[in-house]
Amino acid sequence: MKLEWLGHSAWLIENENTKVLIDPFISGNPSCPTKVSDLKDINFIIVTHNHMDHLGDTVEISNATGAKVISMFENVNTMQKNGLKAENGIGINKGSSLLDFGGIKAAFVDAIHSGNEAGVVLEIGKKKIYHAGDTAFFSDMQLIKKFFEPDVAMLPIGGYFTMGIEQAIEAAKAIGAKITFPMHYNTFPQIKQNPLIFKEGLEGLTEVVILDPGESYEI
Ligand code: MN
Repeated sequence: MKLEWLGHSAWLIENENTKVLIDPFISGNPSCPTKVSDLKDINFIIVTHNHMDHLGDTVEISNATGAKVISMFENVNTMQKNGLKAENGIGINKGSSLLDFGGIKAAFVDAIHSGNEAGVVLEIGKKKIYHAGDTAFFSDMQLIKKFFEPDVAMLPIGGYFTMGIEQAIEAAKAIGAKITFPMHYNTFPQIKQNPLIFKEGLEGLTEVVILDPGESYEI
């Protein structure tokens, strides 16, 4: 399975015939090397909350590719009012175990932010990936470990709008994934960070993989 970081909180996950986008902030994202028109055959788009740097180009990509959009219930309603085809919206909520959507399973978990926010745990090809969305650190992240045991964690480290490095280190410890990716940093001046400090703080605890936008990692 290939995990490609598109900058900010945007990821493209490819496993066999399944392509999943998370928080596809593409056209307005100064760090994203990909064009919306490059994103073909997308099966699912996960949107963690309704801020523009996460909603991004969701409606356009879904309408072009037929991708199913999974988000919090009200966020899907809003997207449908803004042009998302009714049949492509899947509104869910927090607290469930993994729901099977065919090709992927997904569960929404808590996040502490604004914008009708959630984190998401995905199961794709037997691997579990936790994408925290935008969030502060909260100690119940240890329950995400307990219930889902993610193999991979994608955590915001930028500060200002989300947890910064100091708290993201505690988050990574609580989740205890084998591989941890920092995200949501260096897109804008307010969220400038040195991800090497995050990596150093987790030495020996999880493998921190620092990608450049457009780079990918195989798991
Ligand atoms: Mn954000």
